[in-house]
Amino acid sequence: MKNNIYDCLILGAGPAGLSAALYCARSNLKVALIDSFAIGGAPGNYCEIENYLGFKKIQGFELCEKFEEHIDEFNVEKFPYEEIKEVDLTSDIKKIKTQEREFSAKTVIIATGAKPKKLGIKGETENIGKGVSYCAVCDGAFYQDKIVTVIGGGNSALEEALYLTKFAKKVYLIHRRNDFRADEIVKERVKKNKKITLILDTIPIEIIANNKVEEIVIKNIKTEEEKKLKTDGVFPYIGIEPNSDLFFKQIKTDESGFILTDETMQTNLKGVYAIGDVRKTPLRQVITAVSDGAVAGVSSGKYIMKLKEETTKV
Ligand code: NAP
Repeated sequence: MKNNIYDCLILGAGPAGLSAALYCARSNLKVALIDSFAIGGAPGNYCEIENYLGFKKIQGFELCEKFEEHIDEFNVEKFPYEEIKEVDLTSDIKKIKTQEREFSAKTVIIATGAKPKKLGIKGETENIGKGVSYCAVCDGAFYQDKIVTVIGGGNSALEEALYLTKFAKKVYLIHRRNDFRADEIVKERVKKNKKITLILDTIPIEIIANNKVEEIVIKNIKTEEEKKLKTDGVFPYIGIEPNSDLFFKQIKTDESGFILTDETMQTNLKGVYAIGDVRKTPLRQVITAVSDGAVAGVSSGKYIMKLKEETTKV
């Protein structure tokens, strides 16, 4: 029975989780990764990454593949496509139930990431897959010579708008203010791209579809003027919300649900760490996720070492 207890279970196999797995494995911990989807996480849906040190430009999926290849050099058990149903993190031995099995572990690292926020307007949820998409990399190719609309003013909205210009003949970029919060270099590229039409100080009101998306109703928040734009696709990129619902009753979060940690990545519970996009952090990038993972992997190793020392003292 004892051998079935993992030293560390990592929930989420994106860059943060994979990096934590590497550090745990190098500390000789018995470690496993569980993810409800494939190994690699969110970067698989990004177009190009050009701010991961050492790679001037790399496709998101390619970087994920490299991360997994690296992990495969070590003794890390992987459980992809296993949805976590229940967690009990409060005891010394933590329990994680998936549809398939039950896991026990001395430490748990939460790396469950975040999901796209919804606009919450009429016509959005009903038309997912019929013109509303949260993944330009997955769906962009369907919009060859078509018109698409991207909503948001952060790095995601601007980078994905640029990516969509590879296919679409026109990309509307709708933002609720008149200044973008994306990185300067990305802003410059967007402003120079002739296929992108900026529509600022404007919010979307409704997506109109007839089996597939046809128009979007928008409203200028300064003039209150409403108008309809013909569009074949709508890509909302208005931020993210943490995948932390499973942990609410046990783990402390901020008001938006992002998990609070100390500098060792430990949460309010001993032996439970949180890393990457699910954590309250000032910067959400692949490089910071990987860095969080390293810290948590080492913290988990130290915690296990301390447990061993305490057991040998008794
Ligand atoms: P974000 O930076 O939070 O930006 C969200 C954007 O959506 C903001 O411009 C915001 O407007 C707008 N917005 C929010 N709610 C809205 C609503 N209800 N209606 C209309 N607009 C709304 O989110 P993100 O771009 O998804 O990025 C998430 C994190 O990942 C960020 O930390 C980002 O830097 C990082 N990221 C980094 C890269 C990269 O480094 N290459 C790429 C992608 C993402 P306001 O500006 O007015 O608040």
